[in-house]
Amino acid sequence: MHAPLLTEGTRAIQCGSCRPQRRQISFSALSVEPKGPTDGRAVTSHLLPTYARVDLAFERGEGAWLVATNGERYLDFTSGVAVNGLGHAHPYLVAALKAQADKVWHVSNLFRISEAERLAERLCAETFADLAFFCNSGAEAMECVIKVVRKYQYASGRPEHYRIITFEGAFHGRTLATLAAGGQKKYLEGFGPPVAGFDQVPFGDLDAVKAAIGPETAAILIEPIQGEGGVRVAATPFLRGLRELCDRHGLLLAFDEVQTGVGRTGSLFAYQRCGVEPDVMGIAKAIGGGFPLGACLCTADAGKGMTAGTHGSTFGANPLAMTVGNAVLDIVLAPGFLDKVRRSAILFRQRLAEMRDRHAGVIAAVRGEGLLLGLVAVGPNGALVDALRAEKLLAAAAGDNVVRMLPPLIIEETEIAEAITRIDRAAGRLEQTSQPNAEAKP
Ligand code: PLP
Repeated sequence: MHAPLLTEGTRAIQCGSCRPQRRQISFSALSVEPKGPTDGRAVTSHLLPTYARVDLAFERGEGAWLVATNGERYLDFTSGVAVNGLGHAHPYLVAALKAQADKVWHVSNLFRISEAERLAERLCAETFADLAFFCNSGAEAMECVIKVVRKYQYASGRPEHYRIITFEGAFHGRTLATLAAGGQKKYLEGFGPPVAGFDQVPFGDLDAVKAAIGPETAAILIEPIQGEGGVRVAATPFLRGLRELCDRHGLLLAFDEVQTGVGRTGSLFAYQRCGVEPDVMGIAKAIGGGFPLGACLCTADAGKGMTAGTHGSTFGANPLAMTVGNAVLDIVLAPGFLDKVRRSAILFRQRLAEMRDRHAGVIAAVRGEGLLLGLVAVGPNGALVDALRAEKLLAAAAGDNVVRMLPPLIIEETEIAEAITRIDRAAGRLEQTSQPNAEAKP
């Protein structure tokens, strides 16, 4: 045991790891002796068991690769669920973060933060937006989007317009308002009355959107490609139709590009490929390259209600996050970077289509855009994710029985070829064992 870290009056405060142990914790055996009853459930660690984690841990990452604690190397096509767009331990990002860490970590929004002003200016220069609010996650970015549209209507003299039309299969985060926006029963159940003000309609159904517009509607909120919902791409004419409806009815068009943004689909933002501009947009994930960072971007008009005191975040615009965000943009906006992403995406998609043809009993379809691609599984998608992991290829399950392929944007041709070899082996193995799932749909 170390000497006490501090002494406070007569009470010694020990280093946490040296506290006298009242409970037995053995992480190697993943067993914990709990303080109280657990209704017969096994307690495997002191983490609240909200995740169905795989028993696999990594000690370091290098580009598209993760190295497990037992030394095994995995090709990471989850990218931390579309976060590590530039791969793991990108030297430029590491150097930027270290350099900022030597200067100042946090000052709060009581003061000007030059890195934040620079990042906001660059994001606005590259998009439809005039203004940015920085936060720490996707859900917070989407909370800000919801507040912006409601406050816009209020500031426009239409305070009764507060409802937002959202889409079945959507995912906007895990806060109470973003859960209500996503409208998924499985996530809302047990958490009391959902936050009011969201009207859900089927994804892609313009007539349903028209019918849902009422005297209280404030905005339409959509992911240009539903990621968690199963890599479902919104058709351009549908997005154009939403824009027209918003313009006709005085509504704001809000995009959630938390998953699709920062190069994932081959353009900086997915909306830029279809040419339909939103009024307000939430981003997060890849803009921080692994450092927690989110942002709400909006036009000056859409943001007109967000005056001093209407919103805030202690950690938002933190210099460390802002520095990394700027470093991410340095790379993603460098000439040729997105061209290479598009070339990699075409190659990967072609090779995945070959896999679908070769393993039609395992892969029903390939869909998505850029490097946000989904394999529609014939059997349960979880079995395909497991089979891929057994081949040391990491992929993420999504709704609609889809397996998401999210390689880092810096993926090399040789690594795509390696992934295809592993998919081929995994699918081949599944073919011998799996039962076709009659409900699989392209
Ligand atoms: N919006 C979309 C489209 C997402 O994919 C996610 C997360 O997966 C979120 C919002 C929530 O982001 P976060 O988990 O950072 O709160």
